[in-house]
This record gives sequence, C-alpha cells and structure tokens, in this order.
Amino acid sequence: MDRELPRGKWQWWSADHAFVPENHLKFRQDITRWLLARQGKPEVGADGLPTELTEVQQRLIRDSLTRRNRFLSVQTETTGIYTEEEKNEAFATGAPLRAPPEANAVLEAAQQPPREEVIDPVTGKFDCPCCFRRLPARYLEPEAWWQHVESDVGSATCLLDRCLMKPQPFAIDQLYDHVRQYHDPEKLWTLRDIDSARRFPLDPFPENCPICDYTDDDRERVVTHICKELRFFALMALPWATDQMLIVGDEWQEEVDRLWPPHCNVLPCGTWSNDEAWAKRAAKKRTRQEIHEVSLEDS
Ligand SMILES: [Zn+2]
Ligand SMILES: [Zn+2]
Ligand SMILES: [Zn+2]
Repeated sequence: MDRELPRGKWQWWSADHAFVPENHLKFRQDITRWLLARQGKPEVGADGLPTELTEVQQRLIRDSLTRRNRFLSVQTETTGIYTEEEKNEAFATGAPLRAPPEANAVLEAAQQPPREEVIDPVTGKFDCPCCFRRLPARYLEPEAWWQHVESDVGSATCLLDRCLMKPQPFAIDQLYDHVRQYHDPEKLWTLRDIDSARRFPLDPFPENCPICDYTDDDRERVVTHICKELRFFALMALPWATDQMLIVGDEWQEEVDRLWPPHCNVLPCGTWSNDEAWAKRAAKKRTRQEIHEVSLEDS
C-alpha cells in the first residue's frame, strides 16, 4: 500500500514558509495587467492612478503568487529533469525553466493523464510534472489524475467578501467546507440554497465573474464559467505556462473550450459530489426548523 501523499497546505508547507510576495513582482504585474485586460479596463485610470482591483481580485492575485512560489520551488528543487546549468541560467535571467516532460497533461488534465510510457519500469511510479513528486501508477487513471492536479494546483480562492481566512489557495472540492468554516452560513447563503428545488449550491459564487465580469440569468452557467476561470487562472501560475496563457478575448475562450470541451465536466471532483452532503445537511436543518415551529404552536 502506498502511503497517502500530503495534500493542501501540508504539501506546500515548506514552500509557503519561504514565500516572499516581492519575489514575484514581474509575474504579479503580468497577471494584474491580464486581469484588467480581461475586463477591458486600462491599467491607469483617467485620474492618472492605477485602476483599483476589488477585494476578491486582490485575493485572486495573492493566491496566484502563492501558487507561483510553490511551483517554482518544487521545479528548482527537483533532480533528474533539469541540469545545474539550466537551473543557474534560469536563476540568473529570471526566465522560466522549460516545461517538464508530459507538462501538457497538467493543463489538459480534464482530458488526458500523462502517457503510460512515463512509468518507471523498476519502481512502477512516475514523476508528476506539476508537483514533481513520485506518484504510483494508479494516478494515471483519468479521474485520479484530474483530482491530483486539482489538489496540486488548488484552483479555489474564496470569492465572498470579508473572508477571514489567511489567503491561501485550496482545492475546489474544499470550497463548501471553507464557506461553512469561515462565513456565517445562517445569514449569508444557506436559506436560499435550501429553498431551491434543485439544491444546487450556487451561493458561494458571485453573480458576476470576478475575472471578466460575465453574467447570465442561468446561474449554473455562471458558476461553471467561474470554475473554469479559476482553474485557468491557477494554471497560469505554472512558470512554463504563463506566457502562453496571457491571452484575452476570443483567444482565451478558444483555449478554455479546448481545455474543457463541453463533454468534459470541469468539476468532476468534489464540487458536484458535495451535493449529497449538502442535501443531507439541508434536510437536517429543515427538520430542525419544523420541530421548532411545532413546539411554538403547542405553547
Ligand atoms: Zn503532482
Ligand atoms: Zn472565505
Ligand atoms: Zn469570466
């Protein structure tokens, strides 16, 4: 039996410990400029001041810097892929190290895991091109691969105002746990959710996309859109992928449609499977409320 690999904040503990946001100024500038371009906003407003980002947008950028630092630190620490010269040159010039073998399987995780050939015939394992850890072959199974990449990348950022958690990216399947833990569910959003016939937990998502401002009467569409945005934005922090992903407009849409064609669910791991837990909780709350009402009538 393989031991479970550390996930989430434990996986990245040492990288996060050494995180200095100022070390990623160029990347910060690139993604800030990109985010504003996605909204059709200039970098500097008519008043000569930089265009202000919303609280949520600032949090998105901050999480992206955290991811960047994580990816950079594992990429520079890995042995066997890059030569010392390559690493020294990258360090001296600030240029990214080349993409590792099977890197596309990280971007295209929804469609294809790394090829079988990557498995080391002796150990039966392969090196993950995202976290560079040695993984057992069972991670090549499509769903396991998707989940693993999501857990490496942590594409979720809380999109609610006044979030009390220390900014830190987390996997999208932890979003509801986060909201329960850090936001007041009674007031903020559960009642609407319980009342909805479909019990589709949309409320921790804003009505407009925080990146491009997209909105639609069909909120499920908006949520799917936002989840793709989050994943795309998270992947942009991969040092070897940033340049090719700084795209806007139709080019962005085409790339998103390529990475997540309509037939593949962008949220197979967690968000929707949380539905069951959600429905159970909703049912429990409703029962409690009914009991309360009965006792009021009795008195
Ligand atoms: Zn990995
Ligand atoms: Zn939050
Ligand atoms: Zn958007």
